[in-house]
Amino acid sequence: METGELNLVELAQHFSDEDKAREYIERLRWPDGPICPHCGLIDNAYRLAPKESKKGQHVRPGVWKCGGGRQQFTVTVGTIFEDSKIPLSKWLLAYHLLCSSKKGMSAHQLHRMLKVTYRSAWFMAHRIRYTMTQEPLSSKLTGVIEIDETFIGGKPRGRISHATKPGQRPQDRYAHYAKKAPVVSVLQRDGRVQSRYVERVTAENLRPIVEQMVAEDAHVMTDSSSVLKGALTTRKHDQVNHSADEYVRYENGVCITTNSIEGFFATLKRGINGVYHHVGKQHLHRYLSEFDFRYNSRKEKDGDRTLLALKSTSGKRLMLRDSKSVN
Ligand SMILES: [Zn+2]
Repeated sequence: METGELNLVELAQHFSDEDKAREYIERLRWPDGPICPHCGLIDNAYRLAPKESKKGQHVRPGVWKCGGGRQQFTVTVGTIFEDSKIPLSKWLLAYHLLCSSKKGMSAHQLHRMLKVTYRSAWFMAHRIRYTMTQEPLSSKLTGVIEIDETFIGGKPRGRISHATKPGQRPQDRYAHYAKKAPVVSVLQRDGRVQSRYVERVTAENLRPIVEQMVAEDAHVMTDSSSVLKGALTTRKHDQVNHSADEYVRYENGVCITTNSIEGFFATLKRGINGVYHHVGKQHLHRYLSEFDFRYNSRKEKDGDRTLLALKSTSGKRLMLRDSKSVN
């Protein structure tokens, strides 16, 4: 099977068998032949036949022996699959399910679909999210940038008002959201998004995020309630006044709007509030990675998005102790 096309039916057919699933990951990770994780030698290893060895030691399927240092390894060394007792075929299915569902998939649903325990399903999803974590941008986002904040999870207290009421200080407005987690997202129009959980939405807290992600010459658009103004320093900034029912306006041929980021937030909120119900603040950044990843690969077909995520499985071995508390 080519590594190009992936859909659920093919996955289910081709990877019902553990050997095929492993060979698939081998082709994906090692397009130029097996790479020894001990010495880095490429395509200079041979497969050990799964059997009882001379000394009575059991050789598992999928074990290679390096022609250089004579050490043994498998394709899962140094990946999130290492030490996992869950069959690779189920991992591949879980990847596909999470990559192809717009709003994500709950551990409960994975548990039912993959016939693994709820706890295993939760760990799998958590590790997959971890591999979806985007590398820090090598260059800052540029061009037209939309920035907005939203509040995820928890139960709102009192009526939610987006605008500050007369005489009300901005910090009072956020009292409504005390149990919700503030998330700030920076989105390059027609480009990528990056989301961050912040303890409190203040200009002071947002300034480092802006500095890290937004180019100096970018044109930033926010809504008028945003506290971002103080975080943008010298960057060009336009606002749309949602409280006056203004969502889009054109100035000198430039579309002033925050509709792209609002759209991203709509999916994020439907996903986290609808599918995941409750996400602990300590895990929120992982869920943000998942939604950022899917948004940033939105132009890919589901199968290609799965491949993209699978290619990030190496060098990202998430230790169990890092994900001990379930939700
Ligand atoms: Zn070696």
